[in-house]
Amino acid sequence: MAIDLSRRASAAAESQTLRISNRAKKMKEEGIDIVSLSTGEPDFNTPDCAKRAAEEAIEDNFTHYTDSNGIYELRAAVADKFRVENHIAEATADTVLITSGAKQALMDALGAICNEGDEVIIPAPYWVSYPAMVTLSGGTPVIISAGIEQHFKITPEQLSQALTPKTKCVILNSPNNPSGAMYSREELSALADVLVSHSCYILSDEIYEKIIYGDIEHCSIGSFAQLAGRVLTVNGVSKAYAMTGWRVGFLQAHKEVMKEASKVQGQTTSHPSSIAQIASLAAVLYASEDVEKMRLAFVRRRELICSLLDEIPKVKYMKPDGAFYSIGSRGSIWCRRVCSNFFCSK
Ligand code: PMP
Repeated sequence: MAIDLSRRASAAAESQTLRISNRAKKMKEEGIDIVSLSTGEPDFNTPDCAKRAAEEAIEDNFTHYTDSNGIYELRAAVADKFRVENHIAEATADTVLITSGAKQALMDALGAICNEGDEVIIPAPYWVSYPAMVTLSGGTPVIISAGIEQHFKITPEQLSQALTPKTKCVILNSPNNPSGAMYSREELSALADVLVSHSCYILSDEIYEKIIYGDIEHCSIGSFAQLAGRVLTVNGVSKAYAMTGWRVGFLQAHKEVMKEASKVQGQTTSHPSSIAQIASLAAVLYASEDVEKMRLAFVRRRELICSLLDEIPKVKYMKPDGAFYSIGSRGSIWCRRVCSNFFCSK
């Protein structure tokens, strides 16, 4: 039989970060001494409270299928977090989905809203997976570029020019991978003013929310009343709690959107591991001191990497406001540096 493959899968790029990371793991196994700057993951250990909770969950035989939207206690705790910390007034346990990492939250969200031919605006620089995720969901990625002269952030004018009747969604990612840029409340409010008169969704990826350096306050666009019902907020435990391998993410959205997102998840992965959900509940409820310790370490690493970049002639870079990346160039090629595992003190 002739090999006949899915056009969507063929059109989507493979995950470059995973490809490089797998190669680095293989090189390490072969005994080669290298530092992998591929995947962005904290080099810290998962907080003790999460590890102990997971052990107890195993002992208590909490090892069966859970509600496919995630266990109620975690959905309720995440909803509280969204309401109290992020001021997303409509967040309740029923509008929160617990997913297998923020990646699946994004795919569930895009699967819930995208039709063939829908345009999805992605500001560049962007996390490399977004365009492939949009393509896999049947949408068409539309890229708007923001250079270093605008601190890697799009302007309301750029957004306004990119919106068309086909725009289904705009992806925002603040703090940003790979630039480290954060939108201030005023900047988000100016973007919201443009979006208010255009009927599209806003998919706000806030996975780096807790890794910020204090210059700009984190603001969730889902807190703006004029966009109520149109913002899909993504977060999770991977970065904030150094829990990348546990694979737990969160999605908050309007209940009608959530119904479809929940179907996408229910028919694909069902739900993240029961044990990982219990560990995540403990992290969300009890690990704020661990988060602060890690944040302070990231602050020191940011200062170190910026001072080292300052010493290299002709390097242009922006001091990150959040996340653990910095992109710099010497000439025309931009390169992402992961500060999370580069300057680990082990
Ligand atoms: N969003 C962004 C911006 C990311 O950088 C990453 C991971 N690199 C993810 C989502 C995925 O997070 P998770 O590991 O929880 O799926």
